[in-house]
Amino acid sequence: MTTHAPHVPHAWDSAQGSQGPRAAQSVTLPASLDEAVAALTAMPAAVPVAGGTDLMAAVNAGQLRPAALVGLGRINEIRGWQYQDGHALLGAGLTHARMGRPDFAALIPALAAAARAAGPPQIRNAGTLGGNIATAAPTGDALPVLAALEAVLVIVGPEGSREIPVSYLLAGREMLRPGELIGFVRVPLLHAPQVFLKATGRTGPGRAVASVGLVLDPARRGVRCAIGAVAPMPLRPLEAEQWVASLIDWDAGRSLAPEALEAFGEYVAAACVPDQGEPVAPGVLHLRRTVAVLARRALGRALTS
Ligand SMILES: Cc1cc2nc3c(=O)[nH]c(=O)nc-3n(C[C@H](O)[C@H](O)[C@H](O)COP(=O)(O)OP(=O)(O)OC[C@H]3O[C@@H](n4cnc5c(N)ncnc54)[C@H](O)[C@@H]3O)c2cc1C
Repeated sequence: MTTHAPHVPHAWDSAQGSQGPRAAQSVTLPASLDEAVAALTAMPAAVPVAGGTDLMAAVNAGQLRPAALVGLGRINEIRGWQYQDGHALLGAGLTHARMGRPDFAALIPALAAAARAAGPPQIRNAGTLGGNIATAAPTGDALPVLAALEAVLVIVGPEGSREIPVSYLLAGREMLRPGELIGFVRVPLLHAPQVFLKATGRTGPGRAVASVGLVLDPARRGVRCAIGAVAPMPLRPLEAEQWVASLIDWDAGRSLAPEALEAFGEYVAAACVPDQGEPVAPGVLHLRRTVAVLARRALGRALTS
């Protein structure tokens, strides 16, 4: 099986019970995306590895056993970003540490905030944007931000390149085909406040219990918001977005009444954490409360930034 789909298991074999992790038979280190695609195409059992923070954790846990690896760490063309028609074209090899720096934060503040929240420093130094997307874990911190930004993936493969909305990949509507890699992520430059917030259920770094990416899009008089970690993919509360955007006075300091902020939080929470029958379980109530607070705070901060 060579198709690499979200949720990791690309071309890996499952490790057999007591065998434990085993080293890959071969490791290739291409210097360009084209070479990486060629290597993956030539070795259908090979799996790409970027920072290895997700992939090696699975190997070390004995869950996966690579036949061969194609390392992406030497591909300079995907380690930075460039500007393109009001957008930023982000390389899939950008590390969380790089995205957390001030120059990147000035461009895409919510993605920088998500990158700063993604695990401890050693993980942020190695873990990449492309790996975060391809793993597609519900707790992936970049994912709600990319969903709110309506980011588009530039996929490179043996047939050339193609573009798909990030939400298609995360929802399983599109998969990476054999030999394909995420090369770049196209993100609009909105020049307006945007916020990422994350609740972890503990102090210090940790995986999200719930997260929110929220961006203002003044040109379209829009509020776009995605909730992470409460479902297998980020959820967009579209009705709540449209409702609150219609209440904002876009021409006079983007003001909004406190009651409307409160109601937005509740609206988002009800949309993203639905009832599962009566009585509502305490865990569901707590999660809904958490989401309501995150959404309210995120919009409040965006409107007062
Ligand atoms: C201790 C620990 C804490 C963590 N905390 C967080 C956290 O708080 N928030 C968070 O979001 N994540 C967290 N992570 C998860 C992980 O660090 C991120 O998901 C990271 O972004 C993965 O990137 P990577 O480059 O290490 O991916 P890798 O491990 O190299 O690859 C992951 C998967 O993506 C595939 N892949 C990688 N790059 C590409 C590409 N360009 N095209 C196609 N497929 C590709 C690989 O084949 C593999 O299937 C944590 C991980 C650990 C071990």
